[in-house]
Amino acid sequence: MSVTACIGLGSNQGDRRAHLDAAIDSLRATPGIEHLEVSPYLQTTPVGGPTGQGPFLNAAATFQTTLEPLALLGRLQAIEAAAGRVRSIRWGERPLDLDLLLYGNQVIESESLVVPHPRLAVRRFVLEPLVEVAALAVDPTTGRTVQELLANLERTPWRVALCGWEPDTMSAIQRALPSGWEGKLFRPDTGSWPGKPTFLAAPESQKRNRSGIQKFWPVGTPIVFIAAPDPVPEIVAACLAAMPLSTEKPVESA
Ligand code: ATP
Ligand code: CA
Ligand code: CA
Repeated sequence: MSVTACIGLGSNQGDRRAHLDAAIDSLRATPGIEHLEVSPYLQTTPVGGPTGQGPFLNAAATFQTTLEPLALLGRLQAIEAAAGRVRSIRWGERPLDLDLLLYGNQVIESESLVVPHPRLAVRRFVLEPLVEVAALAVDPTTGRTVQELLANLERTPWRVALCGWEPDTMSAIQRALPSGWEGKLFRPDTGSWPGKPTFLAAPESQKRNRSGIQKFWPVGTPIVFIAAPDPVPEIVAACLAAMPLSTEKPVESA
């Protein structure tokens, strides 16, 4: 059976346009991939990762595929490798990055593959090209279309709910918040929470609790799960940097 898949493409090393062009050609030549449509290429500033990297060229593509999710991931990684991709520093420079963003309406959480891509909802550099080819594709974790997720980024959120019990993780996240943002601790045990967060950072340990967490705030609130042993402030800062920040707090609606 054929499924509609969406991928994100990025390059910030070498001949970026050539890397993206070659990746698109390789995908078009892949058995089990058909009707590929690609967005315009968009120049973007790197988010997260080591400083001093050059700007990215980002794009998105959608296609019909009969490849199973893991086979498709394997194909994406083979194309990355052919472009000279070597994985070293997290979020370091790369000639080519291919991320599986959506695979039909499937939710996959395996060791090597998480779909929808966990940072899809908070990345402008992913959503902006994606809306050009798949505006009405639905993110099954939030029930929102790609165009709604992009519009959500325009809402200038300023509050973050920190969900969980681990004090060190929580205070690390709190320290990482840019000025103008307010972090408050969400208590999933009591269900009490401070107002309506527009963005939620939850520790990885809460992942299994996704639906339990989700019911406490409006559908469509992006959730970013954060692996507790990871360099939490960097990850949170990267997520937040992908969102527009305002120094002025919007008037809170009741
Ligand atoms: P990010 O995931 O934040 O965009 P990245 O693209 O730099 O970061 P990589 O180093 O390219 O991360 O990938 C790390 C691992 O992520 C890969 O080895 C792969 O197994 C895994 N992975 C999990 N889910 C996905 C997905 N949806 N698409 C691509 N890789 C994924
Ligand atoms: Ca990526
Ligand atoms: Ca990747």
